[in-house]
Amino acid sequence: ERPKNQILAIFGASGDLAKRKLMPSLYELFSRGMMPEKFAVLGVSRTNFDDESFRKYAGENIRSFLKDKEPDSEILDSFLSRVFYLCIDTLNEDSYFRLREKFVEIREKTEIPDNILFDLATPPDMYRIIPRALKKAGLNKSKEGGFRRIIVEKPFGFDLESSQDINSELLKIFEENEILRIDHYLGKETVQNILVLRFANGIFESLWNRNFIDSVEIRASETLGVENRGGYYDGAGALRDMVQSHLLQLMAFVAMEAPATFDSESIRDEIAKVLRSLKPLSDSDIKADVIRAQYLGYAREKGVSENSSTETYVAMKFFIENWRWGGVPFYIITGKAMPEKTSEIAIRFKAAPQKLFKGQCCGSSCNSLTIRIYPDESISLMFGLKVPGAGFEVRQVNMDFNYKSISPKRLPDAYERLLLDAMLGDNTLFARNDSQSYSWKFVEPILNFWRMEGRENLHVYEKGVFPPVFKELRDADVCKIEPTES
Ligand code: NAP
Repeated sequence: ERPKNQILAIFGASGDLAKRKLMPSLYELFSRGMMPEKFAVLGVSRTNFDDESFRKYAGENIRSFLKDKEPDSEILDSFLSRVFYLCIDTLNEDSYFRLREKFVEIREKTEIPDNILFDLATPPDMYRIIPRALKKAGLNKSKEGGFRRIIVEKPFGFDLESSQDINSELLKIFEENEILRIDHYLGKETVQNILVLRFANGIFESLWNRNFIDSVEIRASETLGVENRGGYYDGAGALRDMVQSHLLQLMAFVAMEAPATFDSESIRDEIAKVLRSLKPLSDSDIKADVIRAQYLGYAREKGVSENSSTETYVAMKFFIENWRWGGVPFYIITGKAMPEKTSEIAIRFKAAPQKLFKGQCCGSSCNSLTIRIYPDESISLMFGLKVPGAGFEVRQVNMDFNYKSISPKRLPDAYERLLLDAMLGDNTLFARNDSQSYSWKFVEPILNFWRMEGRENLHVYEKGVFPPVFKELRDADVCKIEPTES
């Protein structure tokens, strides 16, 4: 299915996200025949470009940042001929009348109907200013029966109150189903595959509950520190930057009930239900079950305050209070400056009730299903098998599925999938207002508790060294016998 003909207006088109992700993804969709038959990409920013100089700039960026390949010059020229630019003061409402004129001019040239997708690739302060200005210029609704949609990037608020404020402002101007809150984790193939793995197969779902699953661990680590984003990161920290957004959404994909049908609202209803069922954490739970740490040297990073208590690492244990998951611990572990870059979800099954064999693995790591998002998009199931030869010695082995094995070509970037869905008007992989609020409600007591504590109980760790983790996870690692065969 190709999206309806439309104009995609990117605010912040001069910025980093547009340069590295948005423009290369749009080019890639175009080169694969997935863009609308008629479309225009309009960059809107304060930086001084015109159509021609912006095309040149966009072309250079596409050449530099397109994933795993060189663009085809002819296709790139054809794509760039559909790219336009408007330089306005985006902070000044009055200048949006010029934007209205630019839309008219583009539509006259291209015969595109009055369908507009706005993409706010700007700092979050602009999430109120731009929508208000669009409304003032009469651009938030079509008078010709066309559609309006608006993509907003994370961070979507700073806490529950600010996220609700942004939402209520946006909802005065756009309908909920027109607002697309992007979470690029949900654009990854493996993440979407969680739904297929669970609900297109009979084998996993029957085991997918408290009777058979011992624990679930979601881990996302980076080797880099804050690099040049210290200013932003110091006001956010790992809990806001990773847990509230990406990792709780991943958790919801793992833990949700089967939707009644595969439409976006049924799926998003189930996601919201899981997030609503998170067991609230009391102060004593936070003390016992949430570990925070900061890498040594963080406070000397550019943009970071000297006595910063911002966490660059979080390890937390929590529970979902419902019939499926009652009593099953969920762990989220995420951090910067860690020894390895990984993103994966491990579903650990309960151990066999009796140890009969030599070498038999003894804990909850013995049978685990690992859904890996990075470094490779893959799924592997670990179990014990007999070592060939005499006796009955057991070895742990992995049964692996790697996306590359069925799709040796490049996997689409998450933004390709999400921009395509946004153009199609499919909201499934975008966070809904209520889900956002439930996840803020869950993390906010932790933020408040840490604010009271300051630097007390803030662990420190060397860059590149694993920070403290829960004893039960360490024990599970000790118990696990390294796989020797595949
Ligand atoms: P950016 O480069 O800092 O800003 C994008 C553009 O916004 C700038 O080129 C600038 O354009 C305009 N802008 C900057 N500060 C402004 C201000 N104070 N007032 C008005 N306009 C301003 O941001 P980005 O890295 O592209 O990120 C855009 C959004 O995506 C942010 O919300 C970010 O958190 C989110 N995000 C980014 C990434 C990433 O990889 N970069 C990843 C995930 C999410 P003009 O000066 O030309 O108007």
